[in-house]
Amino acid sequence: MNKLKEIKAESKTGNEFLIANISWNPTGWKSPYINPRAGHKYAREFPGQESLNFKFDKKGIDTNNKIFGFIPWKLKPVRFKNGGIIIFYSNNTDEHKGQIVGIYSNVEILKNRKHTNWKGLENNNLDSNIKAEKSLSLLFPVPLDANSYKEDKTKRLTGQIGYSYYDISLAEKIVKDELIELVKSGAQKNEFNKLRNIYTYITGKEFDLDLINADEIEQQELISFFKESDKAKIIEDLSNLKESETETVYVNQKTYKRDNKTIAQLKIIRDFKCQICGTKIIKKNGEFYIEAAHIKPKHKKGRETPDNILILCPNHHKEFDYGNRIIIQHTKEQIEFKLNGIQHKIDLKI
Ligand SMILES: [Zn+2]
Repeated sequence: MNKLKEIKAESKTGNEFLIANISWNPTGWKSPYINPRAGHKYAREFPGQESLNFKFDKKGIDTNNKIFGFIPWKLKPVRFKNGGIIIFYSNNTDEHKGQIVGIYSNVEILKNRKHTNWKGLENNNLDSNIKAEKSLSLLFPVPLDANSYKEDKTKRLTGQIGYSYYDISLAEKIVKDELIELVKSGAQKNEFNKLRNIYTYITGKEFDLDLINADEIEQQELISFFKESDKAKIIEDLSNLKESETETVYVNQKTYKRDNKTIAQLKIIRDFKCQICGTKIIKKNGEFYIEAAHIKPKHKKGRETPDNILILCPNHHKEFDYGNRIIIQHTKEQIEFKLNGIQHKIDLKI
């Protein structure tokens, strides 16, 4: 059933996959396929054959189960085993950055190019040199930044020849990252389910949804971004929060939930310490782990402002949520409460 597993078992090189280079399509590999802004002359004048890689219903070409695609490589990848996977890299010429844009699984490299008549391409011909499993192939709804997968910042992710070999663990990471992006974006359930099947194809195991805590991931990204900035600027941001603000915010060229931005900034301001006991948990990667508790819960219209959020260690967070809690006084500046019989007074000023 899992061909990749068989390949891995029978050969050492089966543990590799390809990252292949395809030219940029400014409409996200959807029609129109001509790219007037492409880096090279050919793609400016003719649609790259690979532009149709993610059109999964090419009449007279694709079948119910198989899709045909094209990679402009100069030499065939001889170490590639049929049944393996290919991840597509592209240089986004609009934003001048490398992106991971999609994946083919259960790929077969065709011995001879398959020529098909296809209007609009050069000489009205579409060449295919790869074939893949339709149900296990996907255009990534959210392109990934290729830079985050480079071990050596000076090197290209794929060579001039059109592809590079990588250990399969990188493919696992890329697919996991895309799954996280899909969770964060909230929609695209079909793509998410398809990608989960691809994850299983690669790893031989089910994707554990618990691995994804989208809010925690967002907050960590925001913390990495804001920890470099001036504390006074963060405090200004937090002081200027308005009830009427939009649900999402734009930070460092990405969209985040506004709540997560506020919580991330508050964690920095509170120095990642529990506001009850002072505990600071350090993770093995050097980051800190701490939680945020709402004094008045969000579903009871609790506000997402510093006077309604406590930064707490996991134990105190649970005790705060489930313990016997009696609020004695709660102002913008401080909160006084009794928790399971113990009285606390916490400063809420920023
Ligand atoms: Zn604590």
